[in-house]
Amino acid sequence: CINMTQPNSIDANQLRKSFPIFEKRSLIYLDSAATSQKPKIVIDAVKNFYNEYNSNVHRSIYDISQEATEAYETAREKVAKFLNVDKVDSIIFTKGTTESMNLIAYSWVRHNLKKDDEILITEMEHHSNMVPWQLACKDVGAKLKIIPFEFDGTLKHPEKYFSKRTKLVSISHQSNVFGTINDIDKIINLAKKYNAISVIDAAQSVPHFPVDVKAIDCDFLAFSGHKMLGPTGVGVLYGKPELLENMNPFLGGGEMIRSVQLNESTWNDIPWKFEAGTPNIAQAIGLGVAVDFLNEIGMNNIHNYEKLITDYALNCLNEIDGITIYGNPPNRGGVITFNINNIHSHDLAQILNDDKIAIRAGHHCAQPIMNKLNVSSTARASFYFYNTFDEIDLLCKSIKKAIKLFK
Ligand code: PLP
Repeated sequence: CINMTQPNSIDANQLRKSFPIFEKRSLIYLDSAATSQKPKIVIDAVKNFYNEYNSNVHRSIYDISQEATEAYETAREKVAKFLNVDKVDSIIFTKGTTESMNLIAYSWVRHNLKKDDEILITEMEHHSNMVPWQLACKDVGAKLKIIPFEFDGTLKHPEKYFSKRTKLVSISHQSNVFGTINDIDKIINLAKKYNAISVIDAAQSVPHFPVDVKAIDCDFLAFSGHKMLGPTGVGVLYGKPELLENMNPFLGGGEMIRSVQLNESTWNDIPWKFEAGTPNIAQAIGLGVAVDFLNEIGMNNIHNYEKLITDYALNCLNEIDGITIYGNPPNRGGVITFNINNIHSHDLAQILNDDKIAIRAGHHCAQPIMNKLNVSSTARASFYFYNTFDEIDLLCKSIKKAIKLFK
């Protein structure tokens, strides 16, 4: 492969030192689209919570409970600032993207859609941006309409699929299979034109490039903490406050109420109306620290570095005989999905694993994409700022080794 120097703004070898897993084991981790690795300061933040001020939030007046509440709510403020959201109460902590989507499907769709209304999604969605709408459509008798993808991994003429019956459109900002960065501005403008609610699945975008919610002006946006250096078990739903205020709760229980009588209750203010029960306190605090870490590196720097490493990887992979790379979108992030002739992706992943290289093999929670590509599974390499160009060389070397083995 051609020699490429890394930009000064990101020194992946230096940044890797902040991640204990890379110190502890020999690991070429190319599966950050599934979940990212965690820097020590995030792990420490979680540990410190349990070691030093473990308590429940919003309930008690003793010191450690006040500290926990403050740390939890500060994490919310950090997330709001990260997304350029003015109103902190429009940030709801959930379990992750999946729960955020289900929250919208239960609390908005089931109360606002009726028979023959339409929800619009694309054919390249992750199951979590597909199945919740399928369920909701069945319940209310609405129709799920699909914008198909082209084989280059892009969407052509999404406007053809909108109609006056479209009530909600939900689309991934970046595909977890093709890496396509979709033109969400176009989709959000179309949603406005048709008076539909816009939902952005930002699971693969918020961790990798700046996402300015005020500028894009969507109605809802969802993502997962664990894909952006944070702990598992915490994610975010952003919603426009006027929508959230008029929505019914998703889950019932403690915290989300203002008053409870034996037969009826009233609801707390947003965001707590949507955070029933004891929340993911340590995880949310950890996510706040992950946001600090990402801010320190700079989201633009991360994006630019990932563009370089992805171009480098595409160049190297394209030189391999018998490789099929799926999609070739002009605007893409650090996700490459491929197959090698006559090698099942699981076998390939196994051989790469022998070289301590972790890639994903399977359907990537996107079975409709696999069906259209006419494959049962694919291999996927995905990158983050802690991956090096040397690792890409080793990936290609290991793939070539696998090809020899299967000859
Ligand atoms: N949406 C996209 C595009 C994803 O890549 C993923 C996870 O891979 C999800 C949604 C679901 O995220 P989670 O499993 O954290 O809820």
